[in-house]
Amino acid sequence: MAEKMKDAFEFVIVGGGIAGVSCAEMLSSQCPDVEILLVTASPLIKAITNYKKISKTLEEFDVEERPWMSVQQDCPNVKVIQTEVTALDAEEHMVTVRDGQTFHYKQLCICSGGRPKVIAKDNQYVLGIRDTQSVKEFQKHLHQARRILVVGNGGIATELVYEVQGCEVVWAIKDKSISSAFVDAGAAEFFLPKLNSEKDEGSKPSKRLKYTSEDNNLQEEPKEETFGGALGPDWSANLKMTGQQEISHQVHVEYRVEVKVIHTADDFVAKGMTDSTPPGFTQEQWPVYVELTNGQVYGCDFVVSATGVVPNTQPFITHNQFSVAVDGGLLVTERMETTVPDVYAAGDVCSANWTPSPHWMQMRLWTQARQMGAYTAQCMVAKVRGEVISLDFCFEMFAHVTKFFGFKVILLGKFNAQGLEGNHELLLRMTKGKEYIKAVLKDGTMQGAILIGETDLEETFENLILNQIDLTPFKDDLLDPNIDLEDFFD
Ligand code: FAD
Repeated sequence: MAEKMKDAFEFVIVGGGIAGVSCAEMLSSQCPDVEILLVTASPLIKAITNYKKISKTLEEFDVEERPWMSVQQDCPNVKVIQTEVTALDAEEHMVTVRDGQTFHYKQLCICSGGRPKVIAKDNQYVLGIRDTQSVKEFQKHLHQARRILVVGNGGIATELVYEVQGCEVVWAIKDKSISSAFVDAGAAEFFLPKLNSEKDEGSKPSKRLKYTSEDNNLQEEPKEETFGGALGPDWSANLKMTGQQEISHQVHVEYRVEVKVIHTADDFVAKGMTDSTPPGFTQEQWPVYVELTNGQVYGCDFVVSATGVVPNTQPFITHNQFSVAVDGGLLVTERMETTVPDVYAAGDVCSANWTPSPHWMQMRLWTQARQMGAYTAQCMVAKVRGEVISLDFCFEMFAHVTKFFGFKVILLGKFNAQGLEGNHELLLRMTKGKEYIKAVLKDGTMQGAILIGETDLEETFENLILNQIDLTPFKDDLLDPNIDLEDFFD
């Protein structure tokens, strides 16, 4: 073992998604003389570009898909190999890849992301959306489609429902309001008119250079069950998501339901069922019928399963003593260490197992994948140097910028009063079609906020959450549009 460790890489990273690449880049910049190994199953890696810090905790960036070898060009001390890790022997500090080669490490960081939780996985009429390949597959099917049924209520489903045109969409969600993984019922109401209105095409800037498998001499196609990196920001922009019909948007939402059974066309006829065609939707015969738990049955060309991801912990947890969270992620301490010595984890594959600051929580998003990847690298370097570092400031407060239904959406702190158990009050301001602002207060201090539209309030609200100023005397004026809050709290 001692002999083998002489040839070991100081740092090995598994995964070419945002977390893995951010980790490799940070390690490379902090230890330019150390050889680092990045093993990634996907032929394309995710590189962050145009990084902008827009406030203390909010950040914006683009994600470019690049051939895996580009990491080596940018970081000469990072060696990248495109293959899949098939086994981890943590005792031996060794990973085995698909062709049987083995690599020893002194410290390992697992950034293997997640895999989609697809309902009825083996049904040919059900598609999952995760990576570039699955989006291409979706586009191909959509092109021939007249009606699809989308299951799921998170970011992917929300973007998809907004982007699809020329195709009827039945959106089946288990909650009482749309997009509830991110926004409350009030904000959902604010978005609703957008569901069936003409989409504002505007001029979508093509920010990102995209490489496709055909563009490059990619060495190894990933095995079917190994996933490419999850899609990055703007994954749906610039993609034509058009069906066969001469319509713009036509969306029908079924609330508080789940999929009960997926019937074949023959089954549907044999059982004498009727299609619950929503008003204004076409009446036709469909290749597949979905029975929902509320008894409604919808025919469609295919089903899109956008019901989230589960951490991709295989093959790592086989034969190794990892502690795994209820959500399936590898538990990590505030130094990003798993329960297996010298093994770290970052991004979608891990579950934070430290007492979080009152205004932070983990959500599997690209900002957190970037932050965790970079911070894990710092922890790994600190360990080698025998230094102690404190938890990065980015874990002080949850902050996320995104776009839903064409609106800028900023989520801060406990934006949906998560964990406040009703012991809070909400301040709201809404201008139809323009902005939606919600502040969550507890004992007079701000705990979180949702800002939709061009509100310009993000920095002020961020400071109010971080500083915990007692807002009791100003509560009534806090959302008064005639008061300049920035001046007020200056
Ligand atoms: P991933 O990007 O999944 O990367 C994992 C990497 O590990 C891949 O390169 C994979 O090939 C590799 N790998 C896996 N197993 C192995 C193995 N055994 N050996 C070698 N390599 C392996 N987030 C947002 O913030 N906002 C959004 O609007 C948003 N929309 C999304 C839309 C879609 C369709 C999807 C799928 C995700 C979305 N997300 C969004 C989530 C975001 O993309 C992820 O949180 C983030 O990309 C996770 O990064 P990661 O590096 O942890 O994992």
